[in-house]
Amino acid sequence: MRIGDWDIQIVSGGTFRLDGGAMFGTVPKVIWNKLMPADEENRICMTTNCLLLRSELSGRKHVVLVDTGNGDKEDEAFRGRFQIEGPGVLEASLAKHGVQPEDVTLLVLTHLHFDHAGGATRLDASGAAVPRFPKARVMVQKQELEDARRPNLRVKASYFPWNWEPLETAGLLDTLDGSAELLPGLSVRLAPGHMPGLQIILVKGGGRKLVYPADLIPTSRHIQPAWVMGYDLDVVTCVSERLKLLDEITGSGTVVVFEHDPDIPAGTVSRDEKGKYFVTPVEV
Ligand SMILES: [Zn+2]
Repeated sequence: MRIGDWDIQIVSGGTFRLDGGAMFGTVPKVIWNKLMPADEENRICMTTNCLLLRSELSGRKHVVLVDTGNGDKEDEAFRGRFQIEGPGVLEASLAKHGVQPEDVTLLVLTHLHFDHAGGATRLDASGAAVPRFPKARVMVQKQELEDARRPNLRVKASYFPWNWEPLETAGLLDTLDGSAELLPGLSVRLAPGHMPGLQIILVKGGGRKLVYPADLIPTSRHIQPAWVMGYDLDVVTCVSERLKLLDEITGSGTVVVFEHDPDIPAGTVSRDEKGKYFVTPVEV
């Protein structure tokens, strides 16, 4: 898909499974199980749709990746618990588009939970974690880095320092403090709720728009504003941030990429005659 100066593709960081109840919070299982059926361990199939954006601006080539999936550093027990696909899924997906890890110039991490930042580093031959994209500047919100370094007990299980510390050691990690335009037509915006430092991505140009809401709206099913996740730290803020975004994009033709949706990776949002939000799938 082309938006303004940007060529955009969805690349896969691989599938995994999470508890369906945790993904749908207070939504009864009889409802969500019809939409995303649970396995014998109550887990639902999820994916990690990462975003690849390429442009040539003022003679300079930009290869931007947004999020990286779970990566492949964790041990077998951990990978089994979440049925993490891999290893090598993200590289293979990038290679299909002719992109090698060293080609990536900018990596934007929406936040540092392992299912988003795990692929930012890899294990080298000696077993040390090193940046997977050695030439990429990495951008994350300052608030998120602080929360990752000193996580409270409620979110601690989602943060593994080897997902970002090697980036800091290599001098690749930059922090942002709120909304910013990273490159012409490509911006980030704070969208607290899931985590206070979650940033979402907006691409604009030629009268078209794309938004990548990450865990603000993780699947097309979560387009219902009150269907928040058990993983969301501040559900009230999450609902109001969703409503704010939905107000902007509903009926506008803005393409939404759903990071964790295995069936509908992208779509536009409308409302029916009763006011209920629905997603019409589109190809990216
Ligand atoms: Zn996630």
